[in-house]
Amino acid sequence: MKYSDFCRTDIEFLEEDQFREACLNLPYRRIFLILSQQAAERYQMNELVEQMQQRYQMVWMKQSVSYPTQRMLHIGLSMLSDFEPEVVLSVGGGSAIDFAKAMKAFGGFEEVPSIEMITELLQKKEIRGSRMDLIAVPTTAGTGAELTKWATVWDDAGNVKYSIDHDTLKPDKAYIVPAFTAKADKKLTISTGLDSMAHALEAYWSRKTSPLVRVLSKTSVEMTLANLQQILENPADILLREKQCTASVLSGLAFSMTRTTASHSISYPLTMGYGIAHGIAVAMTLAQIAEHNHGAFPEEDALMVLFVKYGGIRRYLEMICGETVSLNLRDYGIAEEMLEEIAGKSFTLGRMDNNAVELNQQDVIQILRTTY
Ligand SMILES: [Zn+2]
Repeated sequence: MKYSDFCRTDIEFLEEDQFREACLNLPYRRIFLILSQQAAERYQMNELVEQMQQRYQMVWMKQSVSYPTQRMLHIGLSMLSDFEPEVVLSVGGGSAIDFAKAMKAFGGFEEVPSIEMITELLQKKEIRGSRMDLIAVPTTAGTGAELTKWATVWDDAGNVKYSIDHDTLKPDKAYIVPAFTAKADKKLTISTGLDSMAHALEAYWSRKTSPLVRVLSKTSVEMTLANLQQILENPADILLREKQCTASVLSGLAFSMTRTTASHSISYPLTMGYGIAHGIAVAMTLAQIAEHNHGAFPEEDALMVLFVKYGGIRRYLEMICGETVSLNLRDYGIAEEMLEEIAGKSFTLGRMDNNAVELNQQDVIQILRTTY
């Protein structure tokens, strides 16, 4: 029997000093640390890293790995050419955790794989899954990367994105430190908050939805609705941040069972071609997808009623984005003539066909027009 577990990641919520304590008492001797120099400053981790260096054998990747590519993976794997870590500890946003998963997926070769070889492995989805454990420490609340068994690698040439997906890539441990997420600026708080909401909504109406998924999703949406706006007004409030971290863990658990649907599928060419932040690109089409899905998924009313007092999903999203970010494609330098081409690139297998209703290219063009 093929058995897929619900959640094998050990999730721990920690205060900052508890996190430091945990880092100094890891049951490992050889650690590969992924933490950008910038993040080390921002989360005041330089001293902690020094202490860790005294305690463990450690290789530290300091480069930023946002939107990881084959070239970055090659650099990371080169650092492990004569060092075999027992664990990879990744502190950062969704990209840093995705990078750690990719390192695990392609680690353990006798010789460091070249960029071409990594590209080939990505294309063939050939994942070896090296033995090292994985500890994820997300510094934003929303991507859910600490709970899923897949990751995205972006092509160096910028034309395609690769998905890697393997049971061994689900992190063994997730340390959730709400205080870290309080350092996110307004824009990042919005985009990750809306990404979490998208994971919840899409899991709810996905073809793989279930009663359990819907309870997790609905609770997550309720918590985001109750907290995200307040966080934007009180960004340093750790209790509010902790609630948003909880909402993100719940949506992460939900979509780790279902994967995402049409809004994520449509978002990829927007991020890849026009640099629109992932959570914003996803949020752009959520309301339209909800309309398309009307009548096609169970317990719809229980979900939609949550948005009534805000005047619907679109109005809520616009309220959150306010003057800070735009949800309209025209504000990102996209010419209206490009919408057809973007629609053509919107069909990611396993995402678009996981939506409650089937969408064709004309539907997607129409959806993009309404968000133009
Ligand atoms: Zn997402």
